[in-house]
Amino acid sequence: MTQAINSSQALYRCLPAMDSLLLIPQVIGFSDTYGKPWIKSLLTQMLVDVRASIATQQQLPHWCQQSAGVVIELQQRIDAGHRASMSAVMNLTGTVLHTNLGRSQMCEAAITAVTNVMRHPVPVEFDMGQGKRGHRDTAVSSLIHELTGAKACCVVNNNAAAVLLMLAATAAGKEVIVSRGELVEIGGAFRIPDIMAQAGCKLVEVGCTNRTHLQDYAAAITDNTAAIMKVHTSNYHICGFTAAADEAALAQLCRERGIALISDLGSGALTDLSRFGLSKEPMPQQMLKDGVNLVSFSGDKLLGGPQAGLVVGDKDLIAKLQAHPLKRALRCDKMTLAALEATLKQYRQPETLDNQLPIFRKLARPLSSLNSLAQELIGLWPNAAKVVSHALESHSEAKDASVLAQHFNVTIEPCHTQVGSGSQPDVLLDSVALCFMPSANGTMSLSQLDSLFKAQAIPILGRITANRLWLDLRGVDDEYLLSAALKAVSCSPVSMPILQAAPEFIIGGAQ
Ligand SMILES: *Cc1c(COP(=O)(O)O)cnc(C)c1O
Repeated sequence: MTQAINSSQALYRCLPAMDSLLLIPQVIGFSDTYGKPWIKSLLTQMLVDVRASIATQQQLPHWCQQSAGVVIELQQRIDAGHRASMSAVMNLTGTVLHTNLGRSQMCEAAITAVTNVMRHPVPVEFDMGQGKRGHRDTAVSSLIHELTGAKACCVVNNNAAAVLLMLAATAAGKEVIVSRGELVEIGGAFRIPDIMAQAGCKLVEVGCTNRTHLQDYAAAITDNTAAIMKVHTSNYHICGFTAAADEAALAQLCRERGIALISDLGSGALTDLSRFGLSKEPMPQQMLKDGVNLVSFSGDKLLGGPQAGLVVGDKDLIAKLQAHPLKRALRCDKMTLAALEATLKQYRQPETLDNQLPIFRKLARPLSSLNSLAQELIGLWPNAAKVVSHALESHSEAKDASVLAQHFNVTIEPCHTQVGSGSQPDVLLDSVALCFMPSANGTMSLSQLDSLFKAQAIPILGRITANRLWLDLRGVDDEYLLSAALKAVSCSPVSMPILQAAPEFIIGGAQ
């Protein structure tokens, strides 16, 4: 014990002083580049770690044994802390619109448009013709009018905000009738009854979970009723003995009784998605034709644009939304509006849409093309069941068990992609996966392999199920990057400590 204390004291005496660390030439360079206070705080933490190591293990951390090690450790901590928290990842999870991975990727036109408005002053609320104040929703509204026939439109930050504003501006202090089959919870604390309460509306439930009839709505209308609300059950499906009142019939009822019919559509596809093998998603333009007064939907689900919420419909009702104080709190910034405008413009050319919007590009990719990609990629894995002979030669070093490829068998498997973000929960698209399974004599686990994929320059996110790691190829954007990463992973020496992937990704869960 005394000996341990003595040796610890000797180690504590080895601790460098902060002042001397700050005088190391490389550290001076880091301070110039990243700012002295941050570098100093990283060094402070490193000294804390050294003390902890001495106290608990009576030894210095390996990096502390020479000053070069300290600089390398500091560099690593700088790299980790300086990397953008939202650096690119490759989403091969099998969920295309992954809420936790930012939902829609933008089309090139949107990316250009956003870059432009970030860099320059732009007339976001300025009428260039008359030189006076304009309205920030004008450009999007006129496109929405062109594409859906809607008389007016109001744009906010997401569909949750759109629903809140729609209710607050049209029905505060009054009753809103909703079917018991449509009291939806969307992940992240969005529940229809709670949103109603926040908007100051009184929720009136009608019907049953599986069946609600027109008559149920009609019987619930009172002098204090402001609206009937339909909620698209976008993330679940009730099947079996079911009935729901359709929009056209409800619209007629609402007209007769002088109340509004509003609809939370959720995803809000502007085109028919059956071409991808998806079910028909209700479209806002159809709802408006059926006589719905206000329809809300997301910008970043099946529309393929930025996070936004759109409310479209009657002019007088939209005017109420625009005039409501909440609109000021929920309005979009110029980047969202620019991205949305550029995305909507793609819809003017339906024939190129599936190529321009990344979400549609992925949904439209034929199985045959995914299969060829899988064949190409599997050839890069030296231990693959279907080895291409020249690949084996170029990776002959991989016959060595100290190389990762020998620890896993790779196969091409059929799999299913889901759309995600609560869209079309019961529809799965056929897809193809590269599947990694621990080999009989391998010593590495799937989670180690997963960590290695996540530790790539562009982390690759797959999914572990059924004792395999699945990389669903429908999510691939850049085949070249994926093949490079695959080669790198397959040749990693297994003796090397597997790097810990930075963030833990929560797959699935809340939308
Ligand atoms: C997704 C969804 C929402 C929430 O939309 P966000 O854009 O995520 O805010 C609300 N209602 C329904 C029916 C949805 O599907």
